[in-house]
Amino acid sequence: MGLLALGTPLPWDEARKHADQVRDLGIKALSRVHVGGRVTQLLQIWNKYRKNERDVLLWGDEIEYLVVAYDEETKNACLSLRQAEILAELAKDENLRKAGGGVPDVQEPADISEPLPTFHPEFGRFMLEATPGAPFGLTWKDLLAVEGNMKLRRAIAKEHMAENEAPITLTSFPMLGTKGVFTQPYYPSTGSQSRSQFIPDEAINPHIRFPTLAANIRSRRGMKVAINMPVFYDENTPRPFNDPTIDYDRRLYPEDDDVRNGAAKEGHIYMDAMGFGMGCCCLQITFQAKNITEARQLYDQLCPLGPVMLALTAASPIFKGFLADVDVRWNVISGAVDDRTEEEKGLKPQKHSRYVIPKSRYDSVSTYISQDPALRSEYNDLDLVIDKDIEQRLVGNGSRPPPCMNVGEVNVGSSGSLHHRCLGMDERLATHFAHLFIRDPLVIFQETLNESPDDKADHFELAWKNIQSTNWQHMRFKPPPPGGGIGWRVEFRSMEIQVTDHENAAFAIFIVLLTRAILSYGLNFYIPISKVDENMATAHRRDAVLTEKFWFRKNLFPPRKPVTNGSQTPAPSCPGTPPPVEDEYTLMTIDEIMNGRQDEFVGLIPLIESYLNTVNVDVVTRCELAGYLSLVSKRASGELQTGATWIREFVRNHPDYKKDSAVSQGINYDLIKTVEALGNGQGREAGLGDKLLGKPN
Ligand code: ADP
Ligand code: MG
Ligand code: MG
Ligand code: MG
Ligand code: MG
Ligand code: MG
Repeated sequence: MGLLALGTPLPWDEARKHADQVRDLGIKALSRVHVGGRVTQLLQIWNKYRKNERDVLLWGDEIEYLVVAYDEETKNACLSLRQAEILAELAKDENLRKAGGGVPDVQEPADISEPLPTFHPEFGRFMLEATPGAPFGLTWKDLLAVEGNMKLRRAIAKEHMAENEAPITLTSFPMLGTKGVFTQPYYPSTGSQSRSQFIPDEAINPHIRFPTLAANIRSRRGMKVAINMPVFYDENTPRPFNDPTIDYDRRLYPEDDDVRNGAAKEGHIYMDAMGFGMGCCCLQITFQAKNITEARQLYDQLCPLGPVMLALTAASPIFKGFLADVDVRWNVISGAVDDRTEEEKGLKPQKHSRYVIPKSRYDSVSTYISQDPALRSEYNDLDLVIDKDIEQRLVGNGSRPPPCMNVGEVNVGSSGSLHHRCLGMDERLATHFAHLFIRDPLVIFQETLNESPDDKADHFELAWKNIQSTNWQHMRFKPPPPGGGIGWRVEFRSMEIQVTDHENAAFAIFIVLLTRAILSYGLNFYIPISKVDENMATAHRRDAVLTEKFWFRKNLFPPRKPVTNGSQTPAPSCPGTPPPVEDEYTLMTIDEIMNGRQDEFVGLIPLIESYLNTVNVDVVTRCELAGYLSLVSKRASGELQTGATWIREFVRNHPDYKKDSAVSQGINYDLIKTVEALGNGQGREAGLGDKLLGKPN
């Protein structure tokens, strides 16, 4: 794991001087192909893999857990900071390792067809991530194995924890950053990396990459991150609400001035550290497409689904001990890693910065990338900020040829014409990468700079992945890493983690089946990408799933092929002028999007069902799949609650709740215990979770 390899990270003042050098290595890394023993990395990958056709559809999910630790004496549910110890226990487990599971770094390269799951560190020192040991395929058997695999991951994780610890799948930990004791062991909320008033540095994964990320984002930005989420005003919530947990008098770090300078907004819950965002858990799905064309198509088609699925999976109504007036985590993370300077945000005249940048590094996608003719230029309607030099290098028609041309990749044919075995990239894809490269690399290891760029595959990890992995957009386009048998992949990143594996499996399977319907019917979800941004904002509103409308395309089907008449002569197709883009989409509720609207709109679930009717599925499989689709459908119609609504109701119905938006230690304890029980499949007979999951059969 090159990205996590130990090294000497540069503080921001040093790192900034090397940003261009790392971008340069990154672009070379991304274009690296081995030619005559030399490598020059994006274009090289592009050239080596752009023609891959044999890749099979593979996919896999990532589940993120909070590790909670109970203190039964004080009736407190805390975050356990034993991530490293738990991973060490998992790594030590011989049986797990022999079965291909555990921790990837110490895995034996066993040839096992169904390896056990693997576990990974995350930003929070109270988090774990688990993936299936090998990606799933597209067989029905694989689809039906997903929930069992997720349950197995939870069970294995639990087995390697202390008696009082448990993995739970909750998007945000209600008490993170509160005044009481919320970690085990306890640390006071100080630390020179985050300089937060609320979260101790000890809650960050101590691997040097993570505290450096937090510190360098803060330094680059020139102040601490400032996340303000609107509070939910309940009957007794003080009006106006001024976050009572802020210490305006603290003078430990220069950044303590932030709050005196107005960083906290009235009516909002104020958070000041990367940990509030990166300490959230989500559900991500990665697909491998059969080739780059299909990957680009899936990237685009899933993009408008991002905000819809965010609202539908909403599961985070509490931040820093207060009920919020939002149901989702997204903007918390977005603000938590927003390293833009005042100049970059356009708040000050531009003197030192390269660009004015409208979005955080963690935000919705800003450009579509497919070459599908269905992509009308009107859909890419954001003023995309790109690194023009990088774009030119990728396209290769500027004064500089693509880097791979330097290594003898150009053949002169018999006619004297140039045959570029090494082609430049098309402008649309080049623009995507050139947009990612407007960001500075945040963590630069001294060792990367010392190594010769020509013989280190590490530059893919250390330079390209440095840029890619700190561009946290709601979709990610993942080019094949060098040297492996891995193809072009697309990651769907907006969904919140659900309390139970049944729900997580349902949303994963829904997305997988939707991709099948998209490819099989050639579906078209395009709307102007600015409307996807608007939907992202809408998705945050409390109970958006039931009360808001989202921009969505009216007709998802491709234009009909020309009809042939009786005499077998094809009727002439009429190219004509396409309808105005504004006529193609409208506002719909999530219920309409998912379940359809009478004759006007088919609905995604009926679409998936009709796709299932066209393929060969046995009755048992079909029933199981129907169970998962039904959960998604009922969440959309409101027959079942989202996690967010369920949690909010849990708090508001708790006998200790004073109707003042504040979540107490006792309420949190009961909530976490209930969430853990449901995650373990318990408590259903007692009626726990009926509104979330339906009555047990
Ligand atoms: P990241 O953290 O970079 O998003 P991870 O490695 O944690 O990626 O998880 C990626 C997911 O993709 C896992 O579920 C894994 O099973 C799955 N996966 C791995 N290889 C492939 C592949 N070739 N095609 C599709 N999915 C894959
Ligand atoms: Mg991962
Ligand atoms: Mg990751
Ligand atoms: Mg993760
Ligand atoms: Mg401390
Ligand atoms: Mg991921």
